[in-house]
Amino acid sequence: MSATETHVFKSEARELLDLMIHSLYSHKEIFLRELISNASDALDKLRYETLTDEALKGALATGNEGEIRLEVDKDARTLTLHDNGIGMTRAEVIQNLGTIARSGTREFAQRLKEAREGTPDGNETAALIGQFGVGFYSAFMAADRVEVVTRRAGTAADAPATRWTSTGDGTFTVGDAERETHGTSVTLHLRPADAENGLPDFTQDYEIRRVVKKYSDFVTWPIRLGDSTLNSQKAIWTRSQGDVTAEEYAEFYKHVAHDWEAPYETLTLKAEGTFEYQALLFIPSRPPFDLYYREQKFGLQLYVNRVLIMERCEELLPDYLRFVKGVVDSPDLSLNVSREILQNDRRVGQIRKRVVKKVLDTLEKIKTEDRTRYAKFWDTFGKVLKEGLAMDPDNADKLKDLLWFQSSADATAPTSLKEYVGRIKEESGQDAIYYATGESRAVLEKSPHLEAFLAKGYEVLFLTDPVDELLVDHLTEYEGKKLQSVGKGEVELGTETEKLAAEEARKAKQTENATLLSRIQAVLDADVKEVRVSSRLTTSAACLVGDEEDMSPRLERLLKATQGVSELPRQKRILEVNADHAILARMRARFEADADDPVLTDFARLLHGQALLAEGSPLPDPAGFAQLVTALMVRAG
Ligand code: ADP
Ligand code: MG
Repeated sequence: MSATETHVFKSEARELLDLMIHSLYSHKEIFLRELISNASDALDKLRYETLTDEALKGALATGNEGEIRLEVDKDARTLTLHDNGIGMTRAEVIQNLGTIARSGTREFAQRLKEAREGTPDGNETAALIGQFGVGFYSAFMAADRVEVVTRRAGTAADAPATRWTSTGDGTFTVGDAERETHGTSVTLHLRPADAENGLPDFTQDYEIRRVVKKYSDFVTWPIRLGDSTLNSQKAIWTRSQGDVTAEEYAEFYKHVAHDWEAPYETLTLKAEGTFEYQALLFIPSRPPFDLYYREQKFGLQLYVNRVLIMERCEELLPDYLRFVKGVVDSPDLSLNVSREILQNDRRVGQIRKRVVKKVLDTLEKIKTEDRTRYAKFWDTFGKVLKEGLAMDPDNADKLKDLLWFQSSADATAPTSLKEYVGRIKEESGQDAIYYATGESRAVLEKSPHLEAFLAKGYEVLFLTDPVDELLVDHLTEYEGKKLQSVGKGEVELGTETEKLAAEEARKAKQTENATLLSRIQAVLDADVKEVRVSSRLTTSAACLVGDEEDMSPRLERLLKATQGVSELPRQKRILEVNADHAILARMRARFEADADDPVLTDFARLLHGQALLAEGSPLPDPAGFAQLVTALMVRAG
């Protein structure tokens, strides 16, 4: 026998406890949901181990079926939850109930601080409880002392069980205990009931029944109080859709997704025939905090005949739909299924395909029926969905239809590609979908690249998400129209006749200015691969463009920043000048008088610098540029 020891909670756990105890959160009753969910998890884990571990084969056999038992002692004012699940060793007790030993801890601490800085309102607290899986400590909202007695399944009969106790004041004790069977009992020494502050009297059977029914009805293990079973245990996804209320779906969603808000959308799927399965899927209303953590594992819960086999089955969901939550249940898969088997199982691929189709079709339907509602989805998960175009060419057409973009056609409402194409006027001769990529709409709207397009009445899409730079690699055409960057290649606008005429005129100007252009080229040789007369510009003097296959300057910057590719060969771009601009006229005059005039060198550098600034790119030598401008002002003043 080893003595009872006192431990100090790890600091995040202490903060959390403190928050629980002093929480103004008005639904203190949810502690019961949390403890039942832990008991249910413990039973799931044991069942899973009995499948693979010979020594545990009899653990949940007849006569010892899995169950969660609630027990009330009215005189002592205690409520106890007994389960015959996996239990914990002494070390596990210290680890699991003394720390918050999970990857979200850092974020958790951060959010905790934020919640504290604002008013500690109920929703924030509830969010923390659910999102970070710190459910156990919620017991202290209802109890001023909590006692846990537990025995790990599979431990030697003569080894002691473990007792954990705490009053939530910063320390807990761990010692030996008597308990013969595997499983865990959690005893709450209830605080006085305080209905006004959301704490009903849990020594009353009817309160227990009500709360269990409300939050835990679908739990697959029986929850018993005396002789009665309180939950229907019906796996919610096996019930027909008409029989389940929106509230029931929402409660179940909160349980699987660790969310506190109702889902944005609920989807059901059923396949019958040679290969049967059912799925219940949810699109959350808000993004989980770890949506962009590459290490984070996503996926759907996988059940085989209502037995939970895998908490996060990634094989059932492509990465770009990682925000989708829910369960898939198939009686036809094997209970002993392993990751490796799953990865190679064609049927898993089949389910995944259906899941993807269902989600994309549902989104399309929402988009068509209710723009405002779709906007909510788009703002929340649109960026993630865009990743799909690169990953899932089979669904490219569906994905393209779900994309929304900012556009020059409307300052406030986004547009789909279909709507864009619908606005193209037959007589305009426009045969491409034009877009500009950059940091923000405000910068792009004023970019010189757009001048000719807007003058011609052509619509331009503004692609401002960093992922858009990669998106355009996979979004090369829509309904037979090429997607074309306004900053790349030569610009040919208008009808065939207009194009020919414009090209003739441009060539003439190009020839006329050829020697001056070479002079500019010589100055800018390190940065610019070509200097040519533009057909893009109407008001600006110059702009920088790329060849079709060149990286956009922003993509180049993003790659350097995110992947640390500092050795990327610097791309030279093309400087286009507006031959009709007054500056060019001045330069021509100077050049004709004296081809070596040093002012021409300054002008060339100024043109290049301006072009960079106008498109929102940083200057390679800001001080040098400032000096040139200053010198110019002095001369002009
Ligand atoms: P979560 O359930 O999200 O993991 P909790 O704070 O609810 O977080 O529980 C912490 C951990 O304590 C659980 O992960 C589990 O390892 C352990 N635990 C809690 N309750 C039980 C129980 N009834 N049986 C076995 N282990 C439990
Ligand atoms: Mg829990």
